[in-house]
Amino acid sequence: MAHGGDTIFGRIIRKEIPAQIVYETEDVLAFRDISPVAPVHVLIIPKKPVASVAHATEEDAQLLGKLMLAAAEVARREGLLENGYRVVTNIGSDGGQTVFHLHLHVIGGRQMEWPPG
Ligand code: 5GP
Repeated sequence: MAHGGDTIFGRIIRKEIPAQIVYETEDVLAFRDISPVAPVHVLIIPKKPVASVAHATEEDAQLLGKLMLAAAEVARREGLLENGYRVVTNIGSDGGQTVFHLHLHVIGGRQMEWPPG
């Protein structure tokens, strides 16, 4: 599993490349996915470069909570509360992770399927 080092999301955090930012705090940034899989598809990332949930430590416990709360806040702002939505984090190759900077996908605006493919 690739991890550490810099990623495209690091460049977005540093505002070196543009992103459609929808929410930002001291610790967390949320922006629209460049290749959305649903009418609403927002990525929630910590500004701290943790590679994935599998790389998080006890020191990151509060940060992980902040990410989940940011996901809920973004969903509320995007009007997803009434019909619901999905929060996903992909981990490693089998998990489908392609960017090795921890992120939550907030996906909504259409009916989700289960199990995922
Ligand atoms: P993963 O596959 O790692 O769970 O999710 C990575 C996500 O990042 C993908 O949904 C992909 O479309 C998105 N993504 C990759 N590069 C960029 C980018 O430069 N800007 C934005 N906004 N999203 C990106």
